[in-house]
Amino acid sequence: MSPTRETILEINLDALAHNYHYLTSKLSPNTKVMGVVKAFGYGSEANEIAKELVNLGVDYFAVAYVQEGVALRDAGITLPILVLHPQPIHFETLIERCLEPALYSPRILREFIHTAEKKAQQNYPVHLKFNTGLNRLGFWENDIDWIVQQLQETESILVCSLFSHLAASDDLKEKQFTEKQIADFKSIAKDIKSKLDYTPFMHQSNTSAVIHYPEANFDLVRMGIGLYGYGNSEEEDKQLKPVAKLKTVISQIHTIEPGETVGYNRAYQSQGHEKTATLPIGHADGISRQLGNGTGAVLINGKKAPIIGNVCMDMLMVNITGIECKEGDEVVVIGDEQSASELASNMGSISYELLTAISQRVKRVILRKPLSTT
Ligand SMILES: *Cc1c(COP(=O)(O)O)cnc(C)c1O
Repeated sequence: MSPTRETILEINLDALAHNYHYLTSKLSPNTKVMGVVKAFGYGSEANEIAKELVNLGVDYFAVAYVQEGVALRDAGITLPILVLHPQPIHFETLIERCLEPALYSPRILREFIHTAEKKAQQNYPVHLKFNTGLNRLGFWENDIDWIVQQLQETESILVCSLFSHLAASDDLKEKQFTEKQIADFKSIAKDIKSKLDYTPFMHQSNTSAVIHYPEANFDLVRMGIGLYGYGNSEEEDKQLKPVAKLKTVISQIHTIEPGETVGYNRAYQSQGHEKTATLPIGHADGISRQLGNGTGAVLINGKKAPIIGNVCMDMLMVNITGIECKEGDEVVVIGDEQSASELASNMGSISYELLTAISQRVKRVILRKPLSTT
């Protein structure tokens, strides 16, 4: 492997394959898999991740917004793509690029039927989302009769699937609530299926439900974070392999006297004769200012170097007193020695936020190309 010469995000597709096999081994053989690749593949690199997932046998993709689906189509992805939160302004584009919308409210259903009719569609595949307690997006159970009536009045759309999303599948203290969400979703699906003359498929599980609530898997599971190597628990994290590693280098080393200060607003003051290293990564790259002033650390030659002072836009400084290192040495921000969930937990956050915050300025380096299927 070539040495690290700048800030990079290394994407390991072998880790992705490992995670895919580990998670799918928990599924019954006929459960289909939807790879969730929203937000640039959880901050990694959506196109290469998606291509590798195709090779691994994924059945479906999900993104949050229409433009994310368009990017996948532009990259040559031909599998069905569910758009979880499409905005009506992009419905025409969505249809032109064969993306499938989640419809979650009377307003959105009406607007989509309007666009589908305008574009002379017949049986355009859509997915109905029901709210079972997350109270974020979704129809309510008492919308069912109205929905069925709309469906009977148009030939433009066809309900491909019914789905719902769990609020706390990662938190076993909320088992009762989660089980109620699963039971409510079953009853909603049963009701609507009895009123249609065809049978949409059903899905409710995210990664943590695949791990804790197999009864929520139904026909398909929507897997995001687990594919990227995080399982929302220490035990699961041990089984999974982080796909993304964030690395940088030491730009400059300073030796400072007792009482000298480091960085903006002189936020750090040296206690003695200390050594500091300046790194070419800052809050514009996704390292939050909240990780400054000793809250977060990086690893240099296997040793923890705490972030000192305030994180700058393009740089941060770390204390390397007692650490054997030189300018140009590699620095690990997220990697084997410190996972994204560990670093995130220092600032009261989670792997999802830290990973997706890694900005597009950071160069993505794919360790190997997606396996060819030919
Ligand atoms: C993001 C998302 C997922 C994926 O969740 P993970 O916890 O990352 O597996 C599944 N379903 C919906 C509706 C989502 O928004």
